[in-house]
Amino acid sequence: MSKSVFSVAIDGPSGAGKSTVAKAAAARCGFIYVDTGAIYRTVGLAVRRAGADPHSERAVAALLPRLSIRFDYGPDGTQRMHLDGEDVSEAIRTPEMSMYASAVSAHPAVRAYLLDMQRDMAWKNSVVMDGRDIGTVVLPDADLKIFLTASPEARARRRLAELAAKGDPSTYEEVLADMVKRDEQDSTRAAAPLKAAEDAVLVDTSDMTLDESIERVCALVRERTEAAL
Ligand code: C5P
Repeated sequence: MSKSVFSVAIDGPSGAGKSTVAKAAAARCGFIYVDTGAIYRTVGLAVRRAGADPHSERAVAALLPRLSIRFDYGPDGTQRMHLDGEDVSEAIRTPEMSMYASAVSAHPAVRAYLLDMQRDMAWKNSVVMDGRDIGTVVLPDADLKIFLTASPEARARRRLAELAAKGDPSTYEEVLADMVKRDEQDSTRAAAPLKAAEDAVLVDTSDMTLDESIERVCALVRERTEAAL
């Protein structure tokens, strides 16, 4: 019997080009792109707005039952995040929210709270889902797992360009330091640390252009879909 949905899990550190590559690959394959980092960022924003300490699991867990987080897709296919009915898709894209997301995502209570929301999407649709623990925890049976990475310097240069385009005055040194700190936080935490699934294909984009990275992922998707569908 042929499968009706296909799931691609893309994990890796921040700034490896995951979201851009995953989004473009999803569009080419006709799959839905699910940016799970945006969901953690939205929890981070809710915690910030409530004035709670993002490092306190008790304080963050106490907020969860009252949270109203939802996502949908704009006419251009862009994932939009909604917090209490407000579109916060832009508000979550600040360096401060990166740190809040990283802090709240370390709590098992937060990860458990978001698990069904993520699995539900992949259950009903063909998806390219990116994050830190998609291949290891969220979709351990994903049809294709990719660990997309790049050197910290290459990642910092890319993130700096993104921030500068939005008028953010951060310097290269600040961005690199944030990146290294967030990598450390994400890969040493007890709950779902960032690591490649054993059966993930490693793609190092340090010396690849964006187009080459997208093409590499699409080639992997083509190979697997031809085998699976
Ligand atoms: O991918 P992005 O930089 O938007 O993610 C923000 C933060 O959310 C990451 O630094 C990471 O700590 C956390 N995250 C996570 N698990 C995911 C996606 C993001 O812990 N699946």
